[in-house]
Amino acid sequence: GVRHEPTNKIVLDLERLYDEASEELAYVARYARAIQQQRGDYNGRVLSIRADDLRALAIVYDSSPSGLIERLTEHGVLVADPRALFAS
Ligand code: C2E
Ligand code: C2E
Ligand code: C2E
Repeated sequence: GVRHEPTNKIVLDLERLYDEASEELAYVARYARAIQQQRGDYNGRVLSIRADDLRALAIVYDSSPSGLIERLTEHGVLVADPRALFAS
């Protein structure tokens, strides 16, 4: 059968992130665009980001990585299971 491992991977929903006009997520959006550029990954609906980059972003928000994850969750811009997005 298929194994479902709990992944701690941070996956951003780019559609929601870029639609979200809130000032609060402006830095996350800018960071995500920069990562897309570095990878040449322009056509994805989602973007997996490095744990290291989350740590750096958390500093910008004067928060901890888990604190930032909480905020991203509240804004609905995190994808819990990217594969589920493409399953339906
Ligand atoms: P790099 O760090 O020297 O990585 C070279 C290549 O190794 C990447 O090419 C990618 O194919 C692979 N790679 C490195 N780390 C990982 C990883 O954790 N997971 C996966 N799946 N592959 C990895 P790519 O994607 O074309 O990126 C080119 C360069 O752009 C990278 O060189 C790095 O300098 C920068 N970059 C890309 N994405 C990120 C990112 O999310 N954060 C940071 N800080 N830099 C990034
Ligand atoms: P996953 O990591 O759970 O990702 C599921 C799907 O989400 C991917 O399907 C892709 O459509 C999308 N996705 C996730 N992260 C990104 C991203 O940073 N950019 C873009 N453009 N799309 C993203 P896909 O590509 O068919 O991959 C299926 C599975 O294969 C992935 O599941 C992962 O487990 C593995 N995989 C694919 N590419 C890599 C890779 O570069 N490195 C590693 N380690 N695994 C990969
Ligand atoms: P992933 O590809 O499944 O990689 C999971 C973890 O394996 C990464 O977590 C990192 O700790 C390690 N890893 C994988 N490939 C490399 C590598 O080439 N060099 C090094 N030093 N470590 C590697 P991390 O960094 O938190 O990244 C989480 C996810 O973000 C990655 O999952 C991948 O989907 C994406 N990602 C990170 N960096 C890059 C990058 O440079 N290019 C691309 N295309 N995707 C990246």
